[in-house]
Amino acid sequence: MEDLGLKVDLSGQVALVTGASQGLGRAMAIALAASGAHVVAVARNAAKLQETMDAISAAGGQGEIRPCDVSQREAVDALIESVAEQHGKLSILVNNAGITRDTLLPSMSDDQWDDVINTNLRGAFLFTRAASRFMMRARYGRIINIASVSGLIGNAGQCNYSASKAGLIGMTRSLSKELGKRNVTVNAVAPGFIESDMTKALGPALLDEVKKRIPAARIGKPEEVAACVLFLASRAAGYVTGQVLTVDGGMIA
Ligand code: NAP
Repeated sequence: MEDLGLKVDLSGQVALVTGASQGLGRAMAIALAASGAHVVAVARNAAKLQETMDAISAAGGQGEIRPCDVSQREAVDALIESVAEQHGKLSILVNNAGITRDTLLPSMSDDQWDDVINTNLRGAFLFTRAASRFMMRARYGRIINIASVSGLIGNAGQCNYSASKAGLIGMTRSLSKELGKRNVTVNAVAPGFIESDMTKALGPALLDEVKKRIPAARIGKPEEVAACVLFLASRAAGYVTGQVLTVDGGMIA
């Protein structure tokens, strides 16, 4: 992982990242741990979560893995209770777990709609509801929801995904108003095209076309999204809430 040079002190804090087994979430977990946070890495695949944790440990960071399906309420509530009990705090939550099930509307099945909404939106709701109880009590918290430019401008073939990400942005804005008095900030990060399995699946020809629409003329790096998450997770970002930070090389500016 490239070190982009952003220095943030999160020592003594506990940060939970969903979807930390690969891609953007892995980069976020590594960046938060490198800044001193104890990272709780969540996803379904325990072996891949362990790979993230090995990378964190190899860099001198600390954390633990907690395999969990983010759409399952009882599992999420039990996980948060147990983390709060074990550590006495949970100050940073990154709702990053997300999936796509792309197809045009006429062929979109109920399952394709439900799977995306349940993972991307319900998962973030469940984690936020459970974690915010402890943050409100502590009068400190940082909640960061990973949305997408697709939630801002839409995308053909992604009505389920766009709806989930636009929903996350609405939830972010509403919760910033609910939780602000308790010193809990709630922000969203909306990545554009970032190097990942999700974008690799597009193939080189389509990616070349995409680059022509990006002022930065390149695909972003997971570290560049992680750096924005790091800033929003820091004490320094205490007066930033209810915002959507777009990380897309200028694509939708
Ligand atoms: P990815 O490589 O496909 O990783 C998705 C992560 O979510 C994995 O760790 C996966 O782990 C986890 N996950 C999926 N369903 C889950 C569930 N039900 N319960 C728990 N964890 C689950 O995706 P990515 O490209 O890193 O994207 C990460 C986030 O950024 C997503 O929210 C995505 O929508 C957003 N985003 C990405 C891009 C991009 O260009 N890559 C652009 C805009 C927005 P398991 O399979 O082990 O559960």
